[in-house]
Amino acid sequence: MSQSRPLRVAIIGAGPSGFYAAESLAKDLENVSVDLFDRLPTPYGLVRFGVAPDHQKIKSVVKMYEKTAQRENVRFLGNVAFGRDITYTDVKKHYDAVIYTVGASSDRNLGIPGEELPGNMSATEFVAWYNGHPDYETHINKVDAEAVAVIGMGNVAVDVTRVLAKSVDELNTSDIADHALEVLKDSKVKDVYMIGRRGPAQAKFTTKEVRELGELLNADIVVDEAEMLIDEASLASIENDPTTKKNIEVLTGFSKKPLEGKDRRVNIRFLASPVEIMGEGKVEAIKLEKNRLEPSADYINAVGTGEYEVLPVQLVLRSVGYRGVALPEVSFDERRAVIPNDKGVVLDAPKGKPIGGEYVAGWIKRGPSGVIGTNKADSAETVEQLIALQGQSDLPEDNDKKPEVVLELLKTRGVPYITFDQWLKLDKLETEAGLAQGRPRVKLTNVKKMLEAVAD
Ligand code: NAP
Repeated sequence: MSQSRPLRVAIIGAGPSGFYAAESLAKDLENVSVDLFDRLPTPYGLVRFGVAPDHQKIKSVVKMYEKTAQRENVRFLGNVAFGRDITYTDVKKHYDAVIYTVGASSDRNLGIPGEELPGNMSATEFVAWYNGHPDYETHINKVDAEAVAVIGMGNVAVDVTRVLAKSVDELNTSDIADHALEVLKDSKVKDVYMIGRRGPAQAKFTTKEVRELGELLNADIVVDEAEMLIDEASLASIENDPTTKKNIEVLTGFSKKPLEGKDRRVNIRFLASPVEIMGEGKVEAIKLEKNRLEPSADYINAVGTGEYEVLPVQLVLRSVGYRGVALPEVSFDERRAVIPNDKGVVLDAPKGKPIGGEYVAGWIKRGPSGVIGTNKADSAETVEQLIALQGQSDLPEDNDKKPEVVLELLKTRGVPYITFDQWLKLDKLETEAGLAQGRPRVKLTNVKKMLEAVAD
């Protein structure tokens, strides 16, 4: 059915799931007009602020996002915060539908004593700092720890372990933030301990990522052969799991590798849970309880044995998963830290009723799991629902829903929004600065400086 005016859709959050949603809408709907908002001036979310600076290949996905943003019916509006610069009421008034794609910007605590001590922080913060997220520009001004505990066995834990173990020469070919490079130049790190509460067969990292830990110029890899014993239940659980089998092969190789006397050591430890962070006024050690594995019907649990070890460390990075944050006035499931939904259709409560015109995709829909590409199918599912519910209607003229009205509103409020062309200008400045130093880019890490750099 032909429409008298385009269906207006706001997407809140210009990370991978936002871009995939915009692409699906632009591709699958004949008459649509999409505004893709981000609270930061820069697009791409975790591709810019989450993916490790030495993993440039993964970042090449932005070439596809660039094409999406340059479609006629898609408009990027950066530096516009939902709830501050544009409210829930504005969005309901000026759009037919909204898709929330804000990811999971917070993290989970360990829930153990000593977490308030300086020197204990989340990997989320550490990653945001070294990737130049404007909120974390001045977050860390020295890394004087000789020993660091990284809690968790996922790919984020591997990323922070690798960045801490790499030499500055290895890092200064990446797009790591200049402020992080400056601090890490004087790093005193000798030992990084990556600590998993369960065994090698339950580690969440992928093979390519763990293999890289054995290829560092500046760090030996240490895995205790005794901790590589795989119990019967674990063996059975990985029978049809080639990734985990490969992981175990790689880890077993590490456990047999002789030390080469490099400056630093990456120590991978299994079957140990942190029970206390210890220290007088700052982190001085972490107390670990040795675990054994106990299988239940569909899960292999870690159970404490009552045997403890105190590991002297001066920095603790917990890497036990991201956590979604509620948006002002938007439905939220506190327990799962997601926006409650049915295949991307926002519900008023978990298992509740649909709220018309609201959708969700990405980590804030399903929780913080999966790689960038996982979001493509996830966003497509959401857009499919949106089209089924709203894609066919013949829309009456509505002055509030004219695309220029939103720009007028932002101007009236004095919001210095960033267009995609302005982002491309910033992108060029960063990549040119990078070229001069043999790096992919030198990031601007301050919103004020970004706005000055792109001012016409
Ligand atoms: P993750 O893969 O879910 O790993 C979280 C880790 O924390 C698990 O090892 C988990 O152990 C552990 N953990 C949870 N609670 C704990 C506790 N109380 N005490 C001790 N350990 C605890 O999460 P992530 O590393 O944050 O990664 C998020 C997603 O991003 C993943 O899908 C990941 O693959 C992806 N990612 C991909 C890349 C890449 O492709 N290169 C890079 C970064 C991130 P249990 O298994 O025992 O719960």
